[in-house]
Amino acid sequence: MSFLKVIEKYEKFNFEDYFNRVTDEDIKRSIYKNKLNEEDFLNIISPKGEKYLEEMAQKAHEISNRYFGKTVLLYTPLYIANMCVNRCAYCSYNHDNNILRAKLTMEEIEKEAKAIAKEGFKHIILLTGESSKDTPIEYLVDAIKVLKDYFPSITLEVQPLSEEDYKKAIEAGADGLTVYQEVYDREIYKKVHLGGPKRNYNFRLDAPERGAKAGMRNISVSALLGLNDFRREVFLTALHGKYIKDNYPGVDVAFSAPRIRPHAGTFHDIYPVSDKNLVQCILALRLFHNNSVINISTRESASFREKLIPLGVNKMSAGVLTEVGGHCKDTKGKGESQFLISDQSSTEDVKKMIKRLGYQPILKDWERI
Ligand code: SF4
Repeated sequence: MSFLKVIEKYEKFNFEDYFNRVTDEDIKRSIYKNKLNEEDFLNIISPKGEKYLEEMAQKAHEISNRYFGKTVLLYTPLYIANMCVNRCAYCSYNHDNNILRAKLTMEEIEKEAKAIAKEGFKHIILLTGESSKDTPIEYLVDAIKVLKDYFPSITLEVQPLSEEDYKKAIEAGADGLTVYQEVYDREIYKKVHLGGPKRNYNFRLDAPERGAKAGMRNISVSALLGLNDFRREVFLTALHGKYIKDNYPGVDVAFSAPRIRPHAGTFHDIYPVSDKNLVQCILALRLFHNNSVINISTRESASFREKLIPLGVNKMSAGVLTEVGGHCKDTKGKGESQFLISDQSSTEDVKKMIKRLGYQPILKDWERI
């Protein structure tokens, strides 16, 4: 079994037709159900569902408080390399883009770790471009071994690996995995992934499951909003998470809703996703996945991130730099950024904003044994 079976089920599904048939009664009934099914998700994410954002927001707020209290977990990304063999039309790290490439040494990674740890972070996401040649599992394992002395929780966001390699990363000290499918629609997937191993849709689609089989504690799935109609993409993201939860009950599944940001390159074939659309995505995810973490990154502005906290977001990045080696002066400027961030608030400013809303910023919710 693979999530592929679920994708196949929806390949011929007429979303337009379904959305046209959704009634106000369907939406209201779905919002107030205790346990939403796939049809309910489609009802609340439908264009007509936009009229009911207030009702959805109230329920999402209650659910979040019930499961997580008034807390927001903070983390920061650490870019250790930006070599990439793929040619994704929407990303600055695209192999064809003439940017400054770099890969940190273990010594440099340790310097970055010290600089980040000084800010109080305990949760990091370790990022590279996607290149098994430049950043093979051996390099990743060495990096994790350096970082585990500083951070109790290390999530990998690297090229999709085999189950065996995920096991090696876990043994070294990683506990989380982020693999975004980017776009679940196969035709668009082919169109925007112009070259490199990432063109293998199925291998990427099954990566979260390989991570779960290997023993990853938390797994984050998502689509990159803007590559296709967001309603279909967020629906399939929700189902991908459900598939992992149903088959691997020990895994914490998390969701994001990243929108495309300005980047190097010439890809502009974007499906617009407004702030209102993004709010609808987050509310629908919270109503469908009551006990899952929902993360919002600094792709979004500070003022918008603030508004999303009471709506169900309970994890966010802070102190973000998307360039390789950007945290300490010895390595600053070594490699270029993946994309331009929108929220440039300092970690302290993010903490203050969370407290001002009556929430508690959390820096650690996990201890490695
Ligand atoms: S999105 Fe990932 S795989 Fe694609 S070019 Fe950027 S870094 Fe490489």
